[in-house]
Amino acid sequence: MSCGGLSKTGTFIAGLFDTPPSEVPLPRLVPGPDWLRLQVLVQGEPLALQAGQTLAHRRTLDFRRGVLLGDWRQRDGEGLLVEVRTLRFVSLAKRMLAVQLVWIALDREAQLALHAWLEPPADGLSLLRAAPPLTIWRSAQAAKHLAVASAMALRLDQRASRPSVGADGRHTWHWNAAPEQPAIFTRIVAFARADSEGDGADAVRAALHAARRAGPPRLLEAHTRAWAERWRASEVVVEGDQVAQTALRFACYHLISAANPDDQRISIGARALTGDAYLGHVFWDTEMFLLPFYTYTWPTAARTLLLYRFHTLPAARAKAARLGYRGALYAWESADTGEEATPPYVRGPDGQVIPIRNGVEEQHISADVAYAVWQYWQATEDLPFLLDAGAEMILETARFWASRARLESDGRYHIRNVIGPDEYHEGIDDNAYTNGMAQWNIERALELAELLPRRWPERWARLREQLALTPAELAGWRDVAVRLMSGLDESSGLLEQFAGFFALEPLDLAAYTPRTAPMDVLLGRERTQRSQVIKQADVVMLLALLWDRFDAPLRVTNFGYYEPRCGHGSSLSPAIHALVAARLGDVELAARYFHQAAAIDLDDTMGNAAAGVHIATLGGLWQAALFGFGGISPTTVGLRCEPHLPTAWRALGFVVQWRGRQVRIALRQAPLTLSATLEHGQPLILEVGGLRHELRAGQAWTCRWREDELGWQEGEHDRT
Ligand code: BGC
Ligand code: BGC
Repeated sequence: MSCGGLSKTGTFIAGLFDTPPSEVPLPRLVPGPDWLRLQVLVQGEPLALQAGQTLAHRRTLDFRRGVLLGDWRQRDGEGLLVEVRTLRFVSLAKRMLAVQLVWIALDREAQLALHAWLEPPADGLSLLRAAPPLTIWRSAQAAKHLAVASAMALRLDQRASRPSVGADGRHTWHWNAAPEQPAIFTRIVAFARADSEGDGADAVRAALHAARRAGPPRLLEAHTRAWAERWRASEVVVEGDQVAQTALRFACYHLISAANPDDQRISIGARALTGDAYLGHVFWDTEMFLLPFYTYTWPTAARTLLLYRFHTLPAARAKAARLGYRGALYAWESADTGEEATPPYVRGPDGQVIPIRNGVEEQHISADVAYAVWQYWQATEDLPFLLDAGAEMILETARFWASRARLESDGRYHIRNVIGPDEYHEGIDDNAYTNGMAQWNIERALELAELLPRRWPERWARLREQLALTPAELAGWRDVAVRLMSGLDESSGLLEQFAGFFALEPLDLAAYTPRTAPMDVLLGRERTQRSQVIKQADVVMLLALLWDRFDAPLRVTNFGYYEPRCGHGSSLSPAIHALVAARLGDVELAARYFHQAAAIDLDDTMGNAAAGVHIATLGGLWQAALFGFGGISPTTVGLRCEPHLPTAWRALGFVVQWRGRQVRIALRQAPLTLSATLEHGQPLILEVGGLRHELRAGQAWTCRWREDELGWQEGEHDRT
């Protein structure tokens, strides 16, 4: 029951990559068998939207419970009314389980038949073995396996009805249906990815067995409970802007669905598991756009995602070495092993080769990973993670940057020939984002090289030995950090996006609105590269990430300069502009960008929603709400809140976790008030403007923006 070009169905299993032979072999997520296939026959005729009259056809995604509901009423050619209601979910309580329920009723007696089967994928996987209820599938090249166990049943009048089962596992039921006798079809499927043939089979069989004993109602209950727990930890509530509220729920729904805290071998692709764009590859999207959501609402999921980068460190080291550098350079596009998976070229419409340089030149990814590691460590104080994995990632990425930067005759270090977040300009020198993040990465490594020997000397001694780190090397890093080009033009306060950007042709982007195509398509590749038109937040992204390193005038000047030059050719861009505009207090501009980001999936404004949701945008929306409008940032002793609500938003409420505490914050307008409650954990300091308050568990604290606009004033202390 899919509806044409707006959606494309597929069953994707996290981490199930294969590399089919092609001109440029690349790992891709291979689809599993379609577990939802069924066909209803009424008096021998297939029930279809095209046959007869559709009275209702609606699909509803229930974010709260994580279920997809369908309601379809069809009058067939003979005037018979059929009603089909469906419910399905992939369990959040036990991730390998998927459940489908179908309820069928008629308005008069008729002959009904139902066929249900597991549809083999068109390519990628082939059936290796079938021994009901189990099927084992194998990928063609990588010899990855997928074990699937499924059970189907049809109930008529509360009694199970016997199917006939074909050699291919297809189940068929025939019955005489009466109006007062609806039929209920249930299907439970368990999936497990495995590296070898035998693996996974026992697990799916056992999961199926337990699930059948529990039955769909209890499975649904466990699933709903798991969702309720996640929503309690992450719900964002907006009053006064229903579109924003829906967008945030949609975002949190997908962010929660996308992570699996139990599997360190996988990360989240650019469209999560909702589509096959970018072949399921993992980009900086995960660390920069998604990780903050997990770090502040679901730290165990954040940790698992970072451990995926830890397990792919060997591939990152190999990539750095291959290009002649030291340390770790992460893959721009990563799949299961962490080897570089960016296509080296694509073929244009006339078959000509168009090189793709991102896999070699878009190196900021290494600093992005380090940033996410540090942010997680700061927000959680997860010491075992830092000592066993995080420190090594930060040191190895810093080592990469130190070897990557070159000292030149001007006495400064330069990083030449890169691509920054703005992918419209390639092979550039001293990208402000890349250099700024590289410098920050090296500084954090030096901070660890000072902290670890002081606090955990034995652990440090081992790490230093394992990485063969010497004091001389660390001194070299310090030199790079101090003398690396920043792109700052002292006279104007502008950070030049890269060497030579200011000399490019200025363009008035407003003259190209409304736009039907991205700027690089309108202008052509050559002209785009010669112009001051940028694909996405680049310097603005740097401001968002390293906010405290820049003073207020610099932030304003640079946002004012780069915002009009940005074409938002990437879905990643608008939400970051919303975040920065909100922090700068331009709440109406921020709200416009927020809505632009929200519409990418919900209104399909980029026209590619069928290839999956833009999960980075969804993470960006959450960040814009909390870090932008909510103005939340971590301090060394707690949290700071500097809210900037759009005029239309009467209230904004959210939850954040910080070092084992959970804090709930509610902001309300006219007059602007803030109330905060520490839901659990040790006291922490909440800073609001000039106020500093120690929040204690179970105590609500309130403050309000003074009528004379001069700052915040404490409200009464309520005991809850
Ligand atoms: C993206 C790059 C990516 C390339 C190849 C481009 O559209 O902007 O980030 O590496 O496609 O997948
Ligand atoms: C963007 C990249 C992003 C990639 C995957 C590209 O269009 O420019 O920044 O990582 O898409 O979402």
